[in-house]
Amino acid sequence: MSYAVKEIYYTLQGEGLQTGRAAVFLRFAGCNLWSGREEDRASARCRFCDTDFVGVDGPGGGRFADAASLAAAVRRTWEAPLPGEGRRLVVCTGGEPLLQLDAALVETLHTEGFDVAVETNGTRTPPPGLDWITVSPKAGAELLLTAGDELKLVFPQEGAEPERYERLAFRAFVLQPMDGPDRERNTAAAAAWCLAHPRWRLGLQTHKLAGLR
Ligand code: SF4
Repeated sequence: MSYAVKEIYYTLQGEGLQTGRAAVFLRFAGCNLWSGREEDRASARCRFCDTDFVGVDGPGGGRFADAASLAAAVRRTWEAPLPGEGRRLVVCTGGEPLLQLDAALVETLHTEGFDVAVETNGTRTPPPGLDWITVSPKAGAELLLTAGDELKLVFPQEGAEPERYERLAFRAFVLQPMDGPDRERNTAAAAAWCLAHPRWRLGLQTHKLAGLR
């Protein structure tokens, strides 16, 4: 299988339980809930996206003919010394990574010494062997993936209230304030929710605070 990749870059994971951990971000092109074009946003099933996942023109992006060539590009993007520091981390994101991420790529990334994490909208079935699964449900889309390591809910979303998800089989539940013009109000509302519902943890986008991507 070939892969269409928007960009590959080295940074710190800014969100969720793995916040602060060095990682290569592997951003696949394309999503099944929005075309990525502004003229389609109003009719999309997911309307608050702030990510450019269209095309293969970002840093490190391109079309990769097979799992070996893509995994090698991920390895080359890791900037730190390799030995003696535990496993490296690659975060497969998008767009929707599960449109493309398959068992062959997971296995090849493992061979390159990476733990493989995925950040998905939960509408697709994942391949076997993933080390970390983050599901971020969207109000307009049916959730197929109902188990994983963390459920990260952007808040507030009409039709995707936290109560709908908190009995699913995730190890942690993270409430992340929706960014945009109402970010401060959303952050206060999310904090109040977590105080009143301790199953949920407040999750901030720390890479933005740190000036990282
Ligand atoms: S599901 Fe994720 S990548 Fe797709 S449009 Fe929504 S926020 Fe963006």
